[in-house]
Order: sequence, then structure tokens, then C-alpha cells
Amino acid sequence: MRERIAEILDNAKIIACFWHKNPDGDAVGAALAVKNFYGDKVRVYSRDRVPEIFRFLSGSEEVIVYKDFSEVEPADVFLVVDCGDERRVPGFDGSKAGTVVVIDHHDTNTGFGDVNFVDPESSSTCELVYQVLKATGRPIDAKVAECLYTGVYTDTGGFKYADTKPETFQAAKELVELGAEPWKVAVEIYESNPLRRIKLLGECLGTLQLHLDGKVASLFVTLDMYERTGSLPEDTEDFVNYARGIKGVEVGIFIRERHEGGVKVSLRSKGRVNVAKVAAQLGGGGHVNAAGCELDSTVEETLNRLISLLEKEVR
Ligand code: 5GP
Ligand code: MN
Repeated sequence: MRERIAEILDNAKIIACFWHKNPDGDAVGAALAVKNFYGDKVRVYSRDRVPEIFRFLSGSEEVIVYKDFSEVEPADVFLVVDCGDERRVPGFDGSKAGTVVVIDHHDTNTGFGDVNFVDPESSSTCELVYQVLKATGRPIDAKVAECLYTGVYTDTGGFKYADTKPETFQAAKELVELGAEPWKVAVEIYESNPLRRIKLLGECLGTLQLHLDGKVASLFVTLDMYERTGSLPEDTEDFVNYARGIKGVEVGIFIRERHEGGVKVSLRSKGRVNVAKVAAQLGGGGHVNAAGCELDSTVEETLNRLISLLEKEVR
């Protein structure tokens, strides 16, 4: 499959690349790696601006932010990365592409491409993109390696999560040999917090609640909190880990109010609870230990619903 996709990308005259809304390091890293590898024939489209913490990656300044999918021009290939479900690319219309190629590692991937390279065993989409770029047989430069390393590094939580395998370290080793700098990436992502984010975190931690005998912890962020701290939804990345990271807690919940109405939920588990299953029951998806969904309800309604679904899972 990696050879087949390498051939499709090599032969395309124009590649349009897409990631999911609220892009993370794996999504941004995967698309920008392809952009840096293939150069001008690649256009990267996003509904959201590139989060500030990923703007050190080469090519991020060339990402085209669209409001409506009609702004996206037809291309030989639409390449969708790190996305288990086409609904996560707002307005996505694959009929404008010669071929829709999907590269992803979500357990809940629906196989919506014409060609799908989906491996839920992989730590990150960037690891899969790395395999595809290697299969072209051409050299991978330091900029490409930095993008790919960023995805592997962030999707494993800095090589901590359960999906971190020998192959993950092997890929990371090779990417560092190709020029990715681990400390530089770590500083850019985890040691360069905007002050507003830390202020928001302070408010968010004040909402901590324990549920179901301390096996579940929840945190939330309201629109008022963004206003008071001058912060943005992108500043909440990884807040959910403060809920999961409490001793005895098996599932962490993070709920944020959305400016467009409703809420976005992030779920994280450690150990046996499958949060992708819980998220899927609410129309979302993800991985066993990390999943999410969007709902048109209030924070309180959402929390109550989640707790009743989780009750069966943690007992
Ligand atoms: P996060 O909580 O960081 O937004 O997402 C955790 C994981 O679940 C990621 O792999 C993400 O792609 C997936 N995910 C988050 N929200 C949704 C959603 O609404 N639908 C689907 N299918 N997956 C989601
Ligand atoms: Mn990913």
C-alpha cells in the first residue's frame, strides 16, 4: 500500500492536502511533511488557522485557510491525513479530486478514501507518511524529518503513551538522523506556552471534579474563561491530561464550550477503558485511550451524559 500511494503522489500534478478541524501536531506534521517533500505541487487546506505552537514548521505559513469548501480548487489527488471520518474535514467534497487518498491511524476510520492506508497499530499518521515518503526512494531532508518527528512526538505524548512501540523509536531515531532536532521540537511545543494559556489552565483546573468513586475526573472551559484570559480554543490542547493524570483516575474528561455553539469533548483513559467506544456512541471517535466528539448540549448536560455512559465502563 505504501508503494502504491507513493506512486499516486509521485504521478499527481497537483495534490491538495487536508487535515481534521482543530488540527494537532500529527495532522499538521503529516501534511507539512508532504508539502515540504513535494514542494509547489502541494496545497495544504485548513478550516482553522495553524495553531501557534506548530508555526515553527516549514510550510505552515503557506497553509490556505478556507471558510467554505467551495474555495478549494480541484486537484489530481485529495490527500486526507490523520482523519478517521470525512465529516471531520468541514464541507469535504471528494468529487473534486481524481483520487481521494487517506493516510490515518484511527481505530474508527471509515475507509472513506478511494485508496486508504490505515494502520491503527501505528503511533501516528506521521509514521505512516514516513513509510510512504521512504517508498518513493528519494532523499528526505531535515525540514521533512522535523515535521514527521513532530507528529510522532506529539501523538505519543513525548513517547509516553501505550502506542509507543519499538517501531516508534526506530522511526524517531531515523528522523533524528535525517536532521530532526528533539530538543528544538520539545521547546517549541512544550516549553513555549503563551502566557494566556497558563492563565486559562489556572481557571480550568478550578473546575476539577471527581466522579464514580474517583475513577473519572472532569475539567471544563467556558467562553467566559477565554474572554477573561484572552485565550483561544487551541490553547486547551492537552488540558485533558491533567484530569487523567490523577492517581486512581481511569478516565479524564475535558469539555470546552465552542464559539459556534455546543461543546467539544476530549476523553482520555489509562488502561482498560475504551473511550473511542464511548465517543462513538455520541457520534465521535478516536483511539482506545484518546477520543473525542462534538455535541449540541451544555457543559452540564454533556457531563451528565458522559458519566452515565462511563458508569458501565469503569465498574
Ligand atoms: P482530541 O480530544 O485531542 O480532540 O482528540 C482525541 C482523538 O480523538 C484524536 O485522535 C482525534 O482525531 C479523535 N477525535 C476527536 N474528536 C473527534 C470527533 O468529533 N470525531 C471523530 N471521529 N474523532 C474525533
Ligand atoms: Mn494522529
